[in-house]
Amino acid sequence: MPLDPFADDPNDPASLLEPDEDYPPVSAEEREALESDLVNVRDFKRVLEPRGIRGVSMLCEDCEEMHFYDWGIIESNIKTLLDQQIVPVHEPGAQPNPEHYVTWDYCLGYADAMDFAFNGLRPRFPWQR
Ligand SMILES: [Zn+2]
Repeated sequence: MPLDPFADDPNDPASLLEPDEDYPPVSAEEREALESDLVNVRDFKRVLEPRGIRGVSMLCEDCEEMHFYDWGIIESNIKTLLDQQIVPVHEPGAQPNPEHYVTWDYCLGYADAMDFAFNGLRPRFPWQR
């Protein structure tokens, strides 16, 4: 039987799955931020998935390593948070290829550039005049 990698880890992610009475409810502000994240992640998926990007990479504050989240996982995590439940931070990744993941900031910039280029939300590029 393989060793439990979290056997001696006080931050065992399984403990996050247990209900926590002290977990503060999502404030109206947080809810708004989460809802805009949800809209964003769907946009990001729509524009980046065709380019082979599978999700978002984030530096984990707990273990100081990069974690990789597929689009679907991010979406369901946000929904879970909106339901006022705790999301496990350390997703089990099946050896994700870092090349297939970009940072949230990259996504924001990319989506912004798409608006810039195609939706006329900003001045056109000079060569489009
Ligand atoms: Zn971590």
